Amino acid sequence: MNKKRTKIVATISDKNCEPGFIRELYEEGMDVVRINSAHLNLEGAQKIIDNVRKVSDKIAILLDTKGPEIRTTICDSPIPVKKGSNITITGNPDKKSTPGKIFVSLKTFAKDIPLGSLVMIDDGDIELKVIKKEGESLICKADNDGMIGSRKSVNIPSVKINLPSLTEKDRTFIELAARNDIEFIAHSFVRSKQDVLDVQAEIDKHKSEIKIIAKIENQEGVENLSDIMEVVYGIMVARGDLAIEIPYEKIPPIQRMIISRCIYCRKPVIVATQMLQSMITNPRPTRAEVSDIANAIYSQTDAIMLSGETANGKYPVEAVKTMTRVALEVENNKEKFLETPYLNVTGEISAYLAKVAVKTSLRISAKGIIADTTGGKTIRDMASFRGFNLIMSQCYSERTMRELALSYGVYSNFQERRKSIDEFIHIALKNLVKTHDLKADDLIVVLAGNFNAGSGFSFIEVGTVQYLKDRVSIKGDQ
Ligand code: PGA
Ligand code: MN
Repeated sequence: MNKKRTKIVATISDKNCEPGFIRELYEEGMDVVRINSAHLNLEGAQKIIDNVRKVSDKIAILLDTKGPEIRTTICDSPIPVKKGSNITITGNPDKKSTPGKIFVSLKTFAKDIPLGSLVMIDDGDIELKVIKKEGESLICKADNDGMIGSRKSVNIPSVKINLPSLTEKDRTFIELAARNDIEFIAHSFVRSKQDVLDVQAEIDKHKSEIKIIAKIENQEGVENLSDIMEVVYGIMVARGDLAIEIPYEKIPPIQRMIISRCIYCRKPVIVATQMLQSMITNPRPTRAEVSDIANAIYSQTDAIMLSGETANGKYPVEAVKTMTRVALEVENNKEKFLETPYLNVTGEISAYLAKVAVKTSLRISAKGIIADTTGGKTIRDMASFRGFNLIMSQCYSERTMRELALSYGVYSNFQERRKSIDEFIHIALKNLVKTHDLKADDLIVVLAGNFNAGSGFSFIEVGTVQYLKDRVSIKGDQ
């Protein structure tokens, strides 16, 4: 099968998560399922996790926790807003919003937001300007017409607000994630290293191996990117909120910068939000959307993401299919990969051998690279060279196999540890000929090392599928 190298993260809702539907998305190229805790309860999240696990043990699951965010409270019916009219905003999570009087979840809102600030509601659909403070409330003037529904997002561009890293709700979802041993937590509005460390401490309480993806979605997150990168597994360019918190024309260069920094640091990176927004209601993408996906892939992101398109859109399967089609086309350009600047891997034997393996496989037109791993680090090192050939990693841990679903160009199998390297290669190829359309005389590059030490790679071998596979036979094998 012709497999794309760019990975697809698709958001699934508990209202549409039957195994048959998840299987369809998986077969069209979805690699990771995102569960957005903003829109469901614990039972809903559990249902999605159970159904994903029924479909395949290779699909990774990412739970999105909401972090330090502000929302409007509920209202009985959407509240109309007229341009030029005054609206009062008060911090009180327990009060219902009514026409002219909006309540928000942050109690100290009036104290924290300076006069003159812009308050953006519902992803920036409604813009309000703070003109006066009155006790516990802010008086704002509406800059445009619109409607405010229940629990809509509230952004205040460039204002730093002293919110805790995690909410109580986040903690209950992290507990659920740990109990189910899912792969990733994507934490919203990460502003600093400390936010990540707070999430890590919560994960550690449950003795869990869950990996943290930091969602970069405001100015502070962008400014503190280097510090944040030191403590996270990966990064999400969360363009939905980012393009409200920061002028939208700054998003494309920030996206490029974040992707290249992640590649340099060998950490997975996801580009998210509105990649195929029009496909929520239309069966075909716009030209601009196709170009947006292509642009992210030309920048060599690990993954691209779908939100409403698959969670509640009319054409979820078509959306995944569209991403796969664009990825296969854009990736099909060998020269691109030759131009990729190689990372600085001085002194790291494993990473250097990985680089040589990637280059060798390209020069000799091999069909792929086989490598074994326990924790996945050496495989992520290799993926960061953004080679042309697929990395068919053989994992001694099922968890590692799923984690690598997010990494560029990596397709993994689980294998028990074998007595010898020849046995490991034999088993790997026996499985891969079934799934990867390999022929007897196709060349394969093998990257392996000392089995017992977990000390990384120590040699490269090149051979045909037939030679490498048939060098040993294992009892019970055909
Ligand atoms: P969200 O995060 O969908 O949870 O808001 C992604 C984004 O802001 O882009
Ligand atoms: Mn967001």
